[in-house]
Amino acid sequence: MNITKQLTSCALAFAACCLAASGATPPQLRIARFAGDRAAAISYTFDDGLRDQYTLAVPMLNEAGFKGTFFVIPGHVAPSIEEAERKQDAKRAWGGITWPELREMAGQGHEIASHTWSHRALPKLAPEEVDAELAKAFDAIKTRIGRPPLTLAFPFNQSTPETKAAVLKYHVASRDYQTGVGGGKTTVEWLENWTDKQVRDRAWGIIMAHGIGRGYAAFTDPEILRDHFRHVKGRAHEIWVDTFANVARYVKERDNARLVVSSPIPGRLVCVLSSTLEPAVYNVPLTLVIEAPVVTSARAKRAGGELPVRVVPGAIQIDAAPDKDPITVTWH
Ligand SMILES: [Zn+2]
Repeated sequence: MNITKQLTSCALAFAACCLAASGATPPQLRIARFAGDRAAAISYTFDDGLRDQYTLAVPMLNEAGFKGTFFVIPGHVAPSIEEAERKQDAKRAWGGITWPELREMAGQGHEIASHTWSHRALPKLAPEEVDAELAKAFDAIKTRIGRPPLTLAFPFNQSTPETKAAVLKYHVASRDYQTGVGGGKTTVEWLENWTDKQVRDRAWGIIMAHGIGRGYAAFTDPEILRDHFRHVKGRAHEIWVDTFANVARYVKERDNARLVVSSPIPGRLVCVLSSTLEPAVYNVPLTLVIEAPVVTSARAKRAGGELPVRVVPGAIQIDAAPDKDPITVTWH
C-alpha cells in the first residue's frame, strides 16, 4: 500500500469512526486514477517532426478536440516550407515542420516536446554529449516556442538508467513505453482492439506515430487515423485523451498526493490535497471523487474561489491541483 492510499484510508477510517456514533454513512473520498474518473488515458505522440503531422494529423486532432504531443528534433527542423517539403521526400524525413508551424500548433494547445537536438542514440554518447543533446534541444524549443519542453522521447527509444536520470534534469518525464502505429498492421479494427485493451486494463496507452500519409511508418490510408480519433471521441466518458506531459504530471501528482479529510458529515466535507512536487510545474488538476449516491447539486471552494465540480450518477467529481489550502465541498 502506498503512502497516499494509507493516508486516505486513515482519513476514511477516522471519518467512519466519528460517524459511527451518529449512525450516518461517511462520505467516501478518493483521488481518481485518471482525470474525470475515466477508466483509461491515451496520449497521441508524433516523433521526428514529419511534415504530414502538421498538414494531416493536427487538423484531425483539432477536429476531435484532442491535444497531441510532438517530439521534435530542433537541429533538423526546417527553416522554410520549401526545405520542409524537400525533407519530407528524403529517406530520413526528420524535421519537415517549420518553427512557425510548431508555434501555431503550440498555440492550439498541442505539446511541443523534445526528441533531443540531433537524434543520436544517447546510450552510445559520453555524459557531456548527452547533456549537450538535451540542453540544446531544451533551449531551442524554449526560445522558439516560448515555453520549455516538459517531456522527452528518446531517439530510437533507446535509454539507460543514466540517460533517464539525465533527462529528468530538464524534463518532468521521458516516454518509457509506447505502441508504434503505421504501416499495414494498423487498421481501424486493430486500433479499436488496442483501445478496448487500454480500457480493460485501466491503462495509460501511448501511441507513437511517424509518417501519416507519406514517409516512414505512414498509414496505408490517413483516414484510418481520423476514424480512430472519432471512435475514441465517442468514448469520452471512459477515455481521457491528453498530452503526454499532462497525463505524466497527473500520474506523478496522483502518486505523490496526500489527501487528508477532516470532519466529513453527510452533505459536507473538508479536505486538504497537498503534494511535495513543485507547484509551478505540477499544476494539472486531479479529480477527487466523493461517492454520494443521491446528489442533486454540489459546490467546492478553496481559498475563496470555486473549483470545477461535476455531479455524475452516484458521485461528485471535483477538479483540483494539489495545494496547501483546504477544500470545502458541500452537496445536497
Ligand atoms: Zn525518432
